[in-house]
Amino acid sequence: TGYIECAAVRKIYGDGGQGFEALRSVSFTIRDGEFVALLGPSGCGKSTLLMMIGGLEDVTAGSIRVGGAPVDGPRPDTGVMFQDPTLLPWKTALENVLFPIRMMRQDVSAYEPAARELLRMAGLAAAVDKKPRQLSGGMRQRVALCRALVHRPRLLLMDEPFSALDAITRDEMGVALLELWERYKQTAIFVTHSIREAVFLADRVLVMGGRPSSIVADIRIPFARP
Ligand code: ADP
Ligand code: ADP
Repeated sequence: TGYIECAAVRKIYGDGGQGFEALRSVSFTIRDGEFVALLGPSGCGKSTLLMMIGGLEDVTAGSIRVGGAPVDGPRPDTGVMFQDPTLLPWKTALENVLFPIRMMRQDVSAYEPAARELLRMAGLAAAVDKKPRQLSGGMRQRVALCRALVHRPRLLLMDEPFSALDAITRDEMGVALLELWERYKQTAIFVTHSIREAVFLADRVLVMGGRPSSIVADIRIPFARP
């Protein structure tokens, strides 16, 4: 058994018989600590699958279990990062990273050292007290990554998080992400349509495709990371 177990998952958007079948017969297991890329063309259901694992989208049929329990909504053990993360413009980088803690009504000061450490590891030591508009796109993305990690989620879900960035910044982000991941080794799922990015980042690549879409290949990447 694994940390994430998807069994015969099906997703139909819209109502019953008239709906659009986005996913059919999706089954796989992800072990604790694996870094998995979900790879496939636009529209193949990558985001849908990620959102279902995160409890942000309903499963039509089949089952998804995370940590042994059926997914029935968003969980505090999960960090999410989307393509275009919004930072609060009137708050500093540090305050943005700590914002989920505030939202969860937990003790913000208890998490501040961890937030500073994450920002430092992401190369943002000098940006801690800056507002988002004073930061570059790549720096803002790294702030969002730190925000997704600040409560030490066991599971990190990322939906094309770097796709709005230029190629060089994107490579830098990949390196920053791997450095953070090597340190904490949370289970991570990274959605991308870039084969290069999938192979560079992940231990394992689940390729999606077909109509209705499903998992068409499950590839273990044997290379050691740089
Ligand atoms: P990907 O992330 O691989 O680009 P998505 O998961 O966003 O794919 O979408 C998969 C399919 O489901 C697409 O055909 C998309 O148009 C459709 N879809 C996504 N969200 C909805 C929705 N809320 N209602 C209806 N169809 C949707
Ligand atoms: P090389 O030594 O041939 O440049 P690397 O080991 O640096 O190869 O990287 C392997 C592959 O991953 C290459 O195609 C490289 O361009 C690509 N790559 C390197 N860094 C990143 C990154 N941060 N994100 C995505 N792809 C990357």
